[in-house]
Amino acid sequence: MESKKFYITTAIPYMNAKLHLGQIYEFIVTDIVARFNRLLGRDTYFLTGSDEHGQKIEKSAKDKGVSSQDYVDTMVKDMKRLLEVYNISNDSYIRTTDKAHEKVVQNILIKLNENGDLYKSTYEGDYCVPCETFLTEGQLVDGKCPECGRDVEHVEEENYFFKLSEYGQKLIDHIEKNPDFIIPETRKNEVLGLLKQGLKDISVSRTAVEWGVPIPFDSKHYCYVWVDALINYISALGYSSEDSSLFEKYWPADQQHIGKDILKFHAVIWPAILMSLGVDLPKHVVVHGWLLMGKEKLSKSKGITLDPDEIAEKYGIDGVRYFLTRELSFGQDGSFTDPAFIKRYNADLSNDIGNLVSRTLAMIEKYRESVIPAKVKSPDFEKAWEDTKSVALELMGQFKISECLIKVWEFVNKANKHIEDSQPWTLAKSSEQKDIDKLDAVLYEVAESIRLSALILIPFMPTSCQKILDQLGIEKKTGDIRLEADGIWGSFDGNTKTGERKILFPRIEDK
Ligand SMILES: [Zn+2]
Repeated sequence: MESKKFYITTAIPYMNAKLHLGQIYEFIVTDIVARFNRLLGRDTYFLTGSDEHGQKIEKSAKDKGVSSQDYVDTMVKDMKRLLEVYNISNDSYIRTTDKAHEKVVQNILIKLNENGDLYKSTYEGDYCVPCETFLTEGQLVDGKCPECGRDVEHVEEENYFFKLSEYGQKLIDHIEKNPDFIIPETRKNEVLGLLKQGLKDISVSRTAVEWGVPIPFDSKHYCYVWVDALINYISALGYSSEDSSLFEKYWPADQQHIGKDILKFHAVIWPAILMSLGVDLPKHVVVHGWLLMGKEKLSKSKGITLDPDEIAEKYGIDGVRYFLTRELSFGQDGSFTDPAFIKRYNADLSNDIGNLVSRTLAMIEKYRESVIPAKVKSPDFEKAWEDTKSVALELMGQFKISECLIKVWEFVNKANKHIEDSQPWTLAKSSEQKDIDKLDAVLYEVAESIRLSALILIPFMPTSCQKILDQLGIEKKTGDIRLEADGIWGSFDGNTKTGERKILFPRIEDK
């Protein structure tokens, strides 16, 4: 039995720079999955937020001559603005500087300590400030951080350590018992490889940093920013708080989406902390690849970024949402380039669906005075729709998001082909009853196919799908639509007048 609730989270970006398009990609994917679950009628809770403590933030604020709090407040405001720009439908937003979150972090540290999973020792090694990561000598590449290639700082300080080493076998057992705990399989194997090498205990406190959550039983220490950040997924639900009703209702998370660079934190450290707390593990840790610009990895520290505002301005939100999910094979790296975008947009959006909608509505206006003909039985189209719907749902369940879109496009193009084959413009010239009936049937079949395509595409392109429904004279709002109730062939009864025609995806000239 599938549960009726659905809890999905994004990784929370570190607030030291403006978001880049690669991070927006993760929000788009999680947003699509969240909207899909709402479309299926599930009680969905979609969380995102921001990671705001640590040395890097402390430094960035100091460089700007502002307080750390003012610095993160400004950064968070901009992130929230971008979430709105990209139409991300998160139900909640957690900040790691929220007092309620900080209290949960402290509750958890106390519990880990009481469980005997924390101990004090001296850490000697290297630390990459931009990545906020402890590194051992063996991990360095040419003496630099293996992740960002920057210089590391030598650190020797007293830290609290978490006994991660004691959880290796338990994690292996869990992954073997739950083979889809980590998706896709390549990432699962990567984690199993790490675990089989054996785990070292990890530092969970710093003394050199003050912008963080104080360790409640030792005031010189502050919680390591990564541990602080991971806790957001349950602090946002009120874990260990006075009101923990959201936690009772939604945890364990159904899907926790992350980028492949933070796999170890989410598939090793996070579940080990949960095990120590006696809290269930998330059902799936879903790992996506990187968005590249051409062949280069986007990186704010290296200044290779695709500015999400510029891209939105240039191409429109739904076009970008479509492109990123259609073009990138989920779990793998993928690339954004202007020529690839323009080609995909013009072919799929401007031509296939945009043109289908505009010519169908023009014909209904011209031949039937803007009234969609009454429903006809159409075994061929009904079967095609049922097939599209069931395959699309199955593919979404397997994170084959691009393949899901390809399947829906087959249905869109079946409608396009139907227009070409039946030539409504020829039928419209005839006064024979059989041709009049045939024209009614074709217009109905195509209008209904557009409605159903728009319905299943709501999660991908909510604004454009609303525009399609409006033009079809449907008064419902996309957010109120449920696949089970609305996704059935045969909705127009001969009394639906189409709305004002609008161009959905204006063609982009390739210069
Ligand atoms: Zn680094």
